[in-house]
Amino acid sequence: MARAAPGSAARPQTAAMPPQREAPSPDGPPLEIRGLTKRYGAAVVVAGVDITLRRGECFTLLGPNGAGKTTTLRCALGLSAPSSGTIRLAGLPVPARAREARMRVGIVPQIDNLDPDFTCAENLLVYGRYFGLRDAEIAARIPELLAFAGLEGRRDDRIQTLSGGMKRRLTLARALVNRPDLLVLDEPTTGLDPQARHLIWERLKQLIRAGTTVLLTTHFMDEAERLADRVAILDAGRILTEGSPRELIARHIEPQVVEVFGDWGDGDAGHGTPAWAAAHASRYARRHEVSGETAFCYVEDAAPLLAHLAQQPGLRYLHRPADLEDVFLKLTGRELRD
Ligand code: ADP
Repeated sequence: MARAAPGSAARPQTAAMPPQREAPSPDGPPLEIRGLTKRYGAAVVVAGVDITLRRGECFTLLGPNGAGKTTTLRCALGLSAPSSGTIRLAGLPVPARAREARMRVGIVPQIDNLDPDFTCAENLLVYGRYFGLRDAEIAARIPELLAFAGLEGRRDDRIQTLSGGMKRRLTLARALVNRPDLLVLDEPTTGLDPQARHLIWERLKQLIRAGTTVLLTTHFMDEAERLADRVAILDAGRILTEGSPRELIARHIEPQVVEVFGDWGDGDAGHGTPAWAAAHASRYARRHEVSGETAFCYVEDAAPLLAHLAQQPGLRYLHRPADLEDVFLKLTGRELRD
């Protein structure tokens, strides 16, 4: 016997019907967060976050460690109670009706929680039952899910025989077992090697193209730049800025960056890249930052700076377009976060 989906039990038919409950909404925003605050004791780890997801987009919460990304997701899914604010997931109020709302959502947690004693197929089966799906229905879907994960040949293999990348792909496929409207992923590629990351990105792009709404957290700029329609940069529990990667670059940063490093010496001005930057950078760059032995020069037009650098034989440089990492570092600073 298949288990009933939590919250789907038939209500008794009585003369005095209770007021109509809201049904999960297929049309409204998949997720709406207003003024979300989360405190642990005296620490405010999420401080007034607003997010409204648009159907079919990939929305990325980008932030350094400890910014409050996971906490925001956990509150959005009803896995952690907000201190204040309102949340609607699949059109339903959270945490009040979180269990029901989560039936429309696929979740890829930060740490794989596949059952190590089960095979790949058994993991999908057990997870599907949680959504009230019948065994036959899940069994019919398993080949498709394993193919999506690139694990066709591993159907009957136990989880402990899989690589980290395979586990991640299976966790992603598992999250699709209920054909979710919204897929939520917490740092989906942390700990994976470049090949495994690229494969996950390809799969996510495939899902986004097919119209799945995706909400993900990451601290990888390249991940956000590749996947996101919209990015919100979160730090110390607050959203600092929000927009498409291109909009954020145009809004916050000069279009070109010249990273200068190497040997430089001048009898009067001193030695090293910091000394070069102190003596010359502001003449050529609208803004510059020195980090260790590298000077990051942000410019509208790099030609005058490049002409100057050509006359400095000890210095080397990298000239590139500005990217999301430049925005991120400008807004969140360069200090280490643990
Ligand atoms: P991120 O996902 O951006 O790395 P988190 O949401 O995990 O950040 O954490 C935000 C902050 O909240 C961190 O300073 C973390 O130590 C703190 N935090 C998270 N969970 C708890 C908890 N259960 N109790 C106390 N502090 C917590």
